[in-house]
Amino acid sequence: MTKLFSDLRDFLFPRWCLTCGKKLLPSEESVCITCLAELPRTNLKDIPGNRMEQLFWGIIPIERASALYLYAKGGKVAQILYAMKYHGRKDVCRQMGTLSAEELLKTDFFAHIDALIPVPLHPKRLRERGYNQSEWFARGISEKTGIPIYNNVLRRVRNNLTQTHKSSYERRENAESLFATTPEADRLSGKHLLLTDDVLTTGATLTACAEALLGIKGVRISILTLAWAKYNAI
Ligand SMILES: [Zn+2]
Repeated sequence: MTKLFSDLRDFLFPRWCLTCGKKLLPSEESVCITCLAELPRTNLKDIPGNRMEQLFWGIIPIERASALYLYAKGGKVAQILYAMKYHGRKDVCRQMGTLSAEELLKTDFFAHIDALIPVPLHPKRLRERGYNQSEWFARGISEKTGIPIYNNVLRRVRNNLTQTHKSSYERRENAESLFATTPEADRLSGKHLLLTDDVLTTGATLTACAEALLGIKGVRISILTLAWAKYNAI
């Protein structure tokens, strides 16, 4: 977008920061620079064996896991996640993907990744929402890294059963067989896949995705989410 165009756009259609409500500068996207600087970070970056990776130990073999922000109930990250999921803000999903990629491009996190696999929505949910927030998050990552997105290799075979009032073990049990691979998945044999999602809570959904993908010959799996609900479930 040219500067003249973005100046004109902001003159005609002022935009406001998603989290503080202040008017955005032409150079800012969805969330202002001040708010972005204040978002709580996980500081996991690409540290091997980090605490997010440890959640999967003994459950599913993964190579690496990371998330840029820490989720806290009622906080700005929660506002962002809500907009990504329920307010149709594909632009926010993409911006968050770009920011996550820029941060991790300072490390070797993406060095051996061959493909991005967004966590799929159930077709019924996709029809209702009109887009998949994890896929738009992946688009932002792909723009910065050049790694291709494969959104036709994994499908959600059923919606989540209700997860309220369940222990994390029960949630994991509940999430089994939520996903299956398609015949297209064979193209990814021997590749290193990066599963992307908006937020990691119990890890049940990502574990179920990884289980399905591990059926592909010789694949390795890493995980990248925008946020991690480390201290409180959503
Ligand atoms: Zn702001």
